[in-house]
Amino acid sequence: MKITLFTGKTFDIEQALGFKIKVVKSTRAKRMTLRIDAKERIPVLTMPSRCSAARAVEFVNSHRDWITNSLGRLPEAKKFENNETISLFGQNITIVHSPEMRSGALLREDRLFVSGDIEFLHRRVKDYIKKQAREIFYQKSKILAEKLGTKLNDVTIKDTKSRWGSCSSMHNINYSWRIALAPGYVIDYLIAHEVSHLVHQDHSEAFWQCVSDLYPQAEQGKNWLKKHSRLLYRYE
Ligand SMILES: [Zn+2]
Repeated sequence: MKITLFTGKTFDIEQALGFKIKVVKSTRAKRMTLRIDAKERIPVLTMPSRCSAARAVEFVNSHRDWITNSLGRLPEAKKFENNETISLFGQNITIVHSPEMRSGALLREDRLFVSGDIEFLHRRVKDYIKKQAREIFYQKSKILAEKLGTKLNDVTIKDTKSRWGSCSSMHNINYSWRIALAPGYVIDYLIAHEVSHLVHQDHSEAFWQCVSDLYPQAEQGKNWLKKHSRLLYRYE
C-alpha cells in the first residue's frame, strides 16, 4: 500500500520493504507500533501522522524477525481439499475431485464433484460457494425484507474477512462468502441481522428486537460467531 506523507507526496512502503503491510496513520499516536492482523494475516503499522517514511521503513525493518515469527505462529491458512467434508449452507457435503468431469462444480446429494486440475480445486470450490451464496442469501434476504415491508435492491458476495456482512443506505447487502460454511442457524441469524439494518441503521434496542422477531434463534447464532468465527476465516 502507498502512504501519503504530510508533505503531500505518496510513498510505496510495500515496495521499500518487499512485503505486504497495512499502514494506519493516526493523529493521536505518539510513536510507531506494530501488530498483526490475524484475519488478514498481515502486519499493521500505526504511525503518527507527521512521521517520515524513512523512519517508518527503519522501524519496520528493525522488527522483521518479530513479524516473521508472529505470522508463522498464526493458525495455518486452509484450502479446500479432496475428500474434505464441510458444512455448506447448513448441510454436510464432501468434496470429491473429479478430473474427468467436464467443467466446474456439481452438487449431487451430499457430494460436491469438482472438475479440473487438483491445484485449482480450492479456487473452484470457492467460486461455486460464492455463486450459490449470491442466490441463496439473496432469496433469504428478500423474504425477510418483505416481512419488514422494506425494499432489498441487491446482494453482493465479498471476500473480506473483516466483517461477515454489511448493509448500505441504498438497500444493498454484502455478505462474506465464508458465512456459507457456518451452521444453518448462524447463516439465518446473520441474514436477519443485515436485513434489520435496512430498517435500523444502528445497533439499538429496537434493532435487536427486530432481529429476534425475524429470527428467534438469533442469540444462538451470534454466540456461535463470537466463539467460532476463526473456523471460517482461516479459509483462504
Ligand atoms: Zn450490525
